[in-house]
Amino acid sequence: MQKINYGRLLDEKLAELKKSGEKPKLLLHACCAPCSSHTLLYLYEYFEITVYFCNPNIAPEEEYEFRKSELKRLISELGLSVRVIDEDYDPQPFYDLARGLEELPERGERCRRCIEYRLRRSGELAKKLDMDLFTTTLTISPHKDCEYINECGGRLSEEVGVPYLFSDFKKHDGYKHSIELSRKYNLYRQNYCGCIFSRRASENG
Ligand code: SF4
Repeated sequence: MQKINYGRLLDEKLAELKKSGEKPKLLLHACCAPCSSHTLLYLYEYFEITVYFCNPNIAPEEEYEFRKSELKRLISELGLSVRVIDEDYDPQPFYDLARGLEELPERGERCRRCIEYRLRRSGELAKKLDMDLFTTTLTISPHKDCEYINECGGRLSEEVGVPYLFSDFKKHDGYKHSIELSRKYNLYRQNYCGCIFSRRASENG
């Protein structure tokens, strides 16, 4: 089966919006400040953005709070008019979904469930807030399965009844730009994905 070019789908959507002059309401799930940097700047002129920090996978709690505060600092320093919704720390839903999958490597079933959980919560919030679309910053990471993220978003979109904005934010040097922005704004760049299992894997090399 031919691979879908999600980067092109996004570009086509942005071109359509530019032509129409519409500025739809977008709920953007954000995993951290570095991944949000390029993504926010890339989308800002096209959407009225609400950022949603929903990441019960992150451990320990200090790490969670720090990633959240870095995201808020970035938005403030970029001077963007963006609403931020965040969650208090509650990792239990993540440990429930990861049970029995603790030892799996990244991009396996634990990660698929972790991504699906965060996307579902984002879709549900988008529905509740009457958003026009929802999406996630996660496709900027070269470590993540872009195809899975988009397939999952498309499936959940039907479930929750809110269109999903397909993306591949790595395109147009998006990932490189996020590294440059991280340097410019002195953002904390974590050396593990987020959960305690990925932290152990990173510590064990
Ligand atoms: S490695 Fe990352 S995506 Fe996978 S389960 Fe852990 S936090 Fe989630």
